[in-house]
Amino acid sequence: MTVIAERIERAVDAKRLTILGSTGSIGCSTLDIVGRDTDRFEIDALVGNSNIDRLAEQAKSIRARLAVTADPEMYRPLKEALAGTDIEVAAGPEAVIEAAQRPVDMIMASIVGAAGLAPTIAAVNQGTTIGLANKECLVSGGSVFTQAAMRSGARILPVDSEHSAIFQVLNRDHADQISRLILTASGGPFRTFTQKQLNEATPEQALKHPNWSMGRKITIDSASLMNKGLELIEAFHLFDVSIEQLDVLVHPQSIVHSLVEYEDGSTLAQLGMPDMRTPIAYALAWPQRISAPVPKLRLEELGALTFERVDENRFPAIRLSLDALAHGGSATAVLNAANEIAVAEFLSKRLPFPAITGLVRATIERAEQDGMLAAMHSLDDVWSADSYGRRMAQELASRFRM
Ligand code: NAD
Ligand code: MG
Repeated sequence: MTVIAERIERAVDAKRLTILGSTGSIGCSTLDIVGRDTDRFEIDALVGNSNIDRLAEQAKSIRARLAVTADPEMYRPLKEALAGTDIEVAAGPEAVIEAAQRPVDMIMASIVGAAGLAPTIAAVNQGTTIGLANKECLVSGGSVFTQAAMRSGARILPVDSEHSAIFQVLNRDHADQISRLILTASGGPFRTFTQKQLNEATPEQALKHPNWSMGRKITIDSASLMNKGLELIEAFHLFDVSIEQLDVLVHPQSIVHSLVEYEDGSTLAQLGMPDMRTPIAYALAWPQRISAPVPKLRLEELGALTFERVDENRFPAIRLSLDALAHGGSATAVLNAANEIAVAEFLSKRLPFPAITGLVRATIERAEQDGMLAAMHSLDDVWSADSYGRRMAQELASRFRM
């Protein structure tokens, strides 16, 4: 076969992608990989929110067919930024959903928060393969999300590094021989903080993650360890294990990304540098592997890898999340909504750091008293739990103000 023929064949085989949340941290890392391998990947739509300059720049350089902003007010600026190109432009929440429904080989779901649920589920309903970074949509949607995937046959490929690690070492043929899934947590910037230091912790301190460079919301979740709580819920839905089989270990070096323990005493782990381009590349290429521009692991330079238990007194988010998961139904949707409000309040300096989990707990307790922790059967049930959680967290926030 000539080189030209091979090129044409690869072009025909190129995987067509849409990126929801292309202007964010995961979106940019995804484009970094895709942009290095344009024979293998091509972009259909890019979806962002208010960062129009970045969205337009991305769409031009990767030659997307469609660029969408979720903000209807931003239609004109985006249209102007893409004037003179043949890239289609659209704006507004409906346009985001329509973009997610276009036929592609894979959707990278990397919008932050429950805002990602509607477009991701729209793609799931088309049976499209999903690279799932947006953990909140699974935490919020829960079994409504997984059942939609089962109905349509949409494959969900984890992008979150812990879940990618588990996916890489989980032997589905021996699912009955799995005893534990152990998610690792860096412990975040406040791992060694005393309770007094936590009471005084600022957003600036919380935004300085020791190992990972990520969007603001997940960085705060990493500081409170709510990120690990959300990830336990995510693992429960992705891997179909019991709550008792889920465990967390703090591993400050962020090299071992998670572990699967089997009944015969073997524990399998996936290791790598803390760089999201590795799990993103794995999801993009699955079931193949492709190269990613990530430094190789040099264990001899690292010397030691350490592990410790989470201090649940200083970091109550793990217990809160597992309790919500055990409660089932809308409890995790309420937890997620309250956490989104609490993180925004903390970032605006209206709440002290420990009030993030305090407000989440108070919202769940109130939801229980109000009879709002019920089974969820449909997306409408998810929306009503989500909006109740947001409204109640806003209302209760005054109790925790600084
Ligand atoms: P980010 O804040 O950097 O980016 C968020 C993206 O979502 C941006 O493109 C933004 O424009 C878009 N967006 C926000 N609101 C929107 C809306 N209403 N409609 C449409 N688009 C909207 O966040 P991130 O760090 O890239 O995280 C994205 C998701 O991936 C989160 O769910 C996070 O938990 C998960 N995740 C991130 C990392 C990481 O390293 N950053 C790792 C694992 C999982
Ligand atoms: Mg993670």
